[in-house]
Amino acid sequence: MMKRRMVWLFVVTVAVGGCEQLSPEMQLIHDAANALGGVEAVEAVATLRVEGSGNNFRLGQNRTPDAALPRAAVESYTVEADLRNHRMRWEIASANFAGRVNAAVTAMDGDVAFNVGQDGARRAAATVARERHTEYYHHPLTLLQVALTAGEEGAAATVGNLRQESGQDVVDIITPDGSELTLHVDSESRQVVRIASPGYHSNLGDVETATTFRDYAAAGGLMLPGAITRTIDRQPVTFLRVTHTIDADLGDLAAPADVATAPEPGPPAANVTDEELADGVWLLAGQSHHSVLVELAEQAVLVEAPQHDTRTLAAIARARELVPDKPLSHVVNTHHHFDHSGGVRAAVAEGLTVVTHETNRALFEELTSRTHTLVADHLAQQPAELMLETVAGDDTLELGEGRGTMQIFRMGDNPHADGALVVYLPAERMLIQADMFIPGIGGEFADTAAALLQSIEDRNLRVERVVPIHGAVMALSDLEEAVEEAGN
Ligand SMILES: [Zn+2]
Repeated sequence: MMKRRMVWLFVVTVAVGGCEQLSPEMQLIHDAANALGGVEAVEAVATLRVEGSGNNFRLGQNRTPDAALPRAAVESYTVEADLRNHRMRWEIASANFAGRVNAAVTAMDGDVAFNVGQDGARRAAATVARERHTEYYHHPLTLLQVALTAGEEGAAATVGNLRQESGQDVVDIITPDGSELTLHVDSESRQVVRIASPGYHSNLGDVETATTFRDYAAAGGLMLPGAITRTIDRQPVTFLRVTHTIDADLGDLAAPADVATAPEPGPPAANVTDEELADGVWLLAGQSHHSVLVELAEQAVLVEAPQHDTRTLAAIARARELVPDKPLSHVVNTHHHFDHSGGVRAAVAEGLTVVTHETNRALFEELTSRTHTLVADHLAQQPAELMLETVAGDDTLELGEGRGTMQIFRMGDNPHADGALVVYLPAERMLIQADMFIPGIGGEFADTAAALLQSIEDRNLRVERVVPIHGAVMALSDLEEAVEEAGN
C-alpha cells in the first residue's frame, strides 16, 4: 500500500514539474522553436528587422503563358516588425516593367493597414489589412511566437491537424486575429522550411501563398533563414537573400493618428471617359488601361477587358450606353498579360465572346474555370461558359462586313508577348495596339515599336493613327520617328 502511493506521487510530480506533457502538435512547435534557439528566446523577441535584396518574377507577364516569368531586381527589401504591438512595415525598392526602380512603403498596425507615399500616409482597404495580417505571420519567429500561445487563456492561437508531408511535419495554425497558416517543419533539422496560407489573386482567384526558408545562420543569438522564396501556387514570385537583426530599436511603427481614425476606403472606382475617334470608334480612357469600342454593322466589339472587374464592367457599361441598339458581341484581348486580361472573366460573365490568339487558349480556359471563393468576382456570382474565338498562327480574323470591318491578327516577332494581337480598322486607317508602342518608356519597348512598324509594313496597312491601350493616340509618323530615334 505504502509503496504504491509513493509511485503514484512520483508520477504526479513528473507530470506537473516537467512541461513534457505537450500534445504532439505543440511538441512540434516547441521543437521548431528550439531549432531557432529555444522557446524562451523565441518568446523574448520584441522586434525583428529583415533586410535583403533579390528578384521578383513577374507573374502573368511572361512572353507566352508557359514561358519563364520575367525577372525584375528587388534592389532593397526591409521588413520591420514590432512583435509586442503587432505592427509591421515593409520598405521595398524594386524595378518595374520598364526597369525603373520604385520604392514602396506599406505598413500594418493591428487592424489598420496603410501606405506611405510622397503625400503622406493613407489608410488602405480592409481587405488589404486582412492580407497584411496574414503576411505578418509568414516568418518563423512571428508564427512560432504566436503558436506558442496555444492553450493559454484568452486570445490564443490554435494548433492542430498534425501530419506528415514529403519529409516534413506539418500543422495548421489559426492565429488570434483569424489568420490561417500551415507550418512545415523539416523532420530532421526541425527547422521551419515553409509557411503557407490561403490567398486571393484577382486573376487566379483562390491561391496558395507560401514562403519557403533555407540557409539558416546565426543571427542575434538565434538561428534564422538566409534565403526566402515566395511562391503563389508553387510558382516562385520573389527570391531574397536576407539578414536579420533582433531587438533593434525600430522607432514607432504605429499608424499615424489621422490614419488610424480615417475610414477604411472602399474599392477603387473606375473612371471611364469616352472620346469618339472616328464615326463609330470610341476610345474609353480615363485611367492607365483603355479599351476601344468599335461599332460594326450588326454588333459592337470591345477591344480589351483590362485590369479587373471594376474597370472592365465600367467599360462594358459605357460601351452599351454608346451603342444601345446593337449587341456588344465580342471582346478582343490584345495579349495574355494579367493587366490586359484581368477583365476577361467579367466579360465572359457579361456574355461576350472572347477573341485571343490560339497561344492563349489553355490559359483562358484555366482562368475562367478557377474558383474565386475568398472573393466572389463577377463571374463567380454570375457563372457563364467561356465562348472563345482564337486567331490561328498569322491568320487574320475579320469581324463585321463591308466598309466597317475590323481585322485582327498577330503582331510579328517581338520581345513582349508572342501571340499579341493588333486590330486594324481599314476604313478608319487605325491600328489598335497594346504595349507595342509606349513613347518614352525605353527598355524592350524600343524593340516592340520597331516590331509594330515592321508588322504594318509587312501587311501593307495604310495606318494613319495608332490607338493605344496605354497613353495617347499617336500618328503613324510618331511611331516612325520613335523607331528611327531608337536606331532600329
Ligand atoms: Zn503586356
